[in-house]
Amino acid sequence: MLAENMIDLQQCELMIDWCAGVLDTGSLGTVESSMTKVAVSEALMRVADKCVQVMGGTGVTDKTIVETMFREIRAFRIYDGPTEVHKWSLAKKLRRDWKAVQD
Ligand SMILES: Cc1cc2nc3c(=O)[nH]c(=O)nc-3n(C[C@H](O)[C@H](O)[C@H](O)COP(=O)(O)OP(=O)(O)OC[C@H]3O[C@@H](n4cnc5c(N)ncnc54)[C@H](O)[C@@H]3O)c2cc1C
Repeated sequence: MLAENMIDLQQCELMIDWCAGVLDTGSLGTVESSMTKVAVSEALMRVADKCVQVMGGTGVTDKTIVETMFREIRAFRIYDGPTEVHKWSLAKKLRRDWKAVQD
């Protein structure tokens, strides 16, 4: 599980670097930001969940850093637009692109 966390965290870092690179070009980076927000917040939830699991019962008891992180990371999937709303706007972009190719 910790190895899976390593992989998820590395993927998050790569995605954030990619998105930052796009923004550095002066682009609005709307699509890239949405993709990165969804990917990273979902990955962090998986990471936090595995940290709790590795610690067993201690991972869900009050006043452990793992329990605090798990609770705080859960909100990442909601604020700045819930995952579902970002996916919805990405899906709309796919539909727009598909229509443009058809025309
Ligand atoms: C810790 C925290 C800090 C925050 N900080 C700020 C801040 O600094 N500034 C600020 O302006 N706001 C802030 N917010 C508010 C945050 O942006 C909203 O909670 C968020 O946009 C979701 O809106 P909502 O809570 O009204 O959920 P709703 O809009 O009621 O959505 C509830 C759920 O319905 C589903 N849903 C909603 N719309 C769709 C859709 N179109 N398609 C599919 N599913 C959908 C999603 O699963 C979503 O999680 C914060 C929230 C939290 C939890």
